[in-house]
Amino acid sequence: HHHALSDLNILSVLGRGNGATVYKVSDNQTGAIYALKVVRFGENVESVIREAEILQRVVSSEYVVRCLKVFDGGGDHGLCFVMEYMDAGSLHNILSKKKRLSENVISFIATCVLRGLQYLHALQLVHRDIKPSNLLVTMRGEVKIADFGASRVVAGPTSSCVISTDGACIGTCAYMSPERWDVGEECDGYAGDVWSLGVVAMECYVGRFPLVGPGQKPDWVTLVCAICFGENVESVVKMGSPEFVSFCKRCLEREWRNRGTVEELLLHPFVNKSEISGVEDFASCIASTH
Ligand code: ADP
Ligand code: MG
Repeated sequence: HHHALSDLNILSVLGRGNGATVYKVSDNQTGAIYALKVVRFGENVESVIREAEILQRVVSSEYVVRCLKVFDGGGDHGLCFVMEYMDAGSLHNILSKKKRLSENVISFIATCVLRGLQYLHALQLVHRDIKPSNLLVTMRGEVKIADFGASRVVAGPTSSCVISTDGACIGTCAYMSPERWDVGEECDGYAGDVWSLGVVAMECYVGRFPLVGPGQKPDWVTLVCAICFGENVESVVKMGSPEFVSFCKRCLEREWRNRGTVEELLLHPFVNKSEISGVEDFASCIASTH
């Protein structure tokens, strides 16, 4: 039972984001290893509290990173989340070393993410920030959804996000669906998570951010054009199998009302193809990067 920072021994830094730092820690009593995410309250106290509330609700899926404890770090530390430690880091780390993944591995990753989303959506939660650095993995080949800093509880149709203009959110905006760029458009939110999964699947296949050309810098204009008007899917994944191309097209359907839902995609022929070899293939892929 962790109640204070002094119960934990900081071993290393696993990640640093805007307002949050994630450490690898060990429990002074038991020696058990955890990840500790410390989120400074900063200007956005509400969003920190929201992340804590959501994390305390999403504790019974094997496809969602589990939070074991939340406590106030005291002083100016911020809110502390003790989480299960994902020993192979994020899919972003894997992709930066591995470039391209096989369709079998992508199918496995997509299946895990869809099951995680099925769990979240059933709780009326939209994640809103599905991207490689928020998908965490273990050496055993497990894949889990993490980082609920942008998540929301759905209460009826919501209007889309308002984008800050400081450019700071480009990394995340790159995975954002067309309806979320369209400030006037109402949407259910769930479909946006499916879009992001489609971008991730394509990125795993081509080895780079797939919606803009290889040499292109994804500045605002390029990005918005690519997401909202681009000929993204077919041109990029034309080498893939028909099942994979079809899966990406269902995820990246521009009109959110026509996009594949999580339930539909869980029945797609690209998904659940090879449960057993999927996890084994991914585990050996991860091992080759370490
Ligand atoms: P942020 O809100 O700053 O994006 P995240 O929760 O996404 O914070 O964590 C940032 C990074 O820290 C992740 O991309 C990952 O590399 C690492 N990380 C986060 N949680 C864990 C964990 N439970 N186990 C291992 N690494 C983690
Ligand atoms: Mg993150």
